[in-house]
Amino acid sequence: MTTFGTFFLPGPTEVRAEVLQAMLQPMIPHRGKVYEALHGRCDTGLRAVFRTAQPVLIASASATGLMEGSIRSAPPGPVLALVNGAFSERYAQVAASCGREVHRAEVPLGRVHCPADVTALLAATGATVVTVAHSETSTGALQEVRGLARLSHEAGAVLLVDSVTGLAGAPLETDAWEIDFVFTGSQKALALPPGLAFGVASPAFLAQAATRSHRGTYFDLVEFAKFAEKRQTPNTPAVSLLYALDVQVRALSAEGVEARWARHAAMQAATESWVASLAASVDPAFGMLAPAGARSPTVSCITLPTTLTSGAIVDGVAARGYVIGSGYGPLKENTIRIGHMGDHDVAGVTRVLAIVREVVEALLAR
Ligand SMILES: *Cc1c(COP(=O)(O)O)cnc(C)c1O
Repeated sequence: MTTFGTFFLPGPTEVRAEVLQAMLQPMIPHRGKVYEALHGRCDTGLRAVFRTAQPVLIASASATGLMEGSIRSAPPGPVLALVNGAFSERYAQVAASCGREVHRAEVPLGRVHCPADVTALLAATGATVVTVAHSETSTGALQEVRGLARLSHEAGAVLLVDSVTGLAGAPLETDAWEIDFVFTGSQKALALPPGLAFGVASPAFLAQAATRSHRGTYFDLVEFAKFAEKRQTPNTPAVSLLYALDVQVRALSAEGVEARWARHAAMQAATESWVASLAASVDPAFGMLAPAGARSPTVSCITLPTTLTSGAIVDGVAARGYVIGSGYGPLKENTIRIGHMGDHDVAGVTRVLAIVREVVEALLAR
């Protein structure tokens, strides 16, 4: 097994050996006391991360499953999709594919939406549902979601939050910020293998969901909530992944959520100052795509001089035994992305950044 600290994709993220090894435990029935205890420990640990008193819904699926479930459980009426990159666009597409009328509000890649615009758009569209990406993984932008639920509620709408690369890395207060539904996936800042999705629905959101027809079956949030009461899931859960989660929630609780946020902020700051030094000493075209004040603590999207392509850098870094991400979608060739989330630390991030710099200098010297 390789040592930890070489894999810096913005998802999936690197998983510690102890977490991987937990998955070797034998199977148990998922309708029984042993499973219920396991599920209960995972739920308790995740509630602390979501900062909620509500049960955490645990789905055996990638995060997009709960994205779809949230749309199917949302009140009828137009959807206002706040789009600023590939994943917030995915929310809009999921809503459209579920038969919703969707109004996309788009800002340039790297940017975020401002609350006053959202208020105006709610009034103009009569939307009853707002979708937003907390941390837009394709651009490294962090959307402020505190306050968005309140202003959505004032307009008679609910707020659905994709916090897939936010939760457990960026501050998020599900209950205090009155978020109607928020979800994440196991393979991002929680540093678990892919395959589980976690979501929290407010009691009011669940109550209105129960009156909706055609919520579907596999991602029916009302069913998940019903089974969560007895610490079970509606269908067979990915038990091996819950073993991994059980180990990881123990580590999360030992670290503490606020310390985890601080560690992510420190990794972001280290990346930011590294980019600034590259811009000052190598080429001023190196920069953070997202403006200061709107940068995700879990992923950085870095702009490149036109003389470099992401592919050449990613390959050069791989040849030295490390993994980073290229850009995403229209940014694929002219940006790179560093995932500094999960169980990484500043020392590890500093190490991979030194390697990236070495590769960049070698490529520019040719
Ligand atoms: C990774 C990601 C998703 C998609 O998650 P899957 O687990 O692949 O379904 C959605 N939103 C954001 C912001 C992401 O980073």
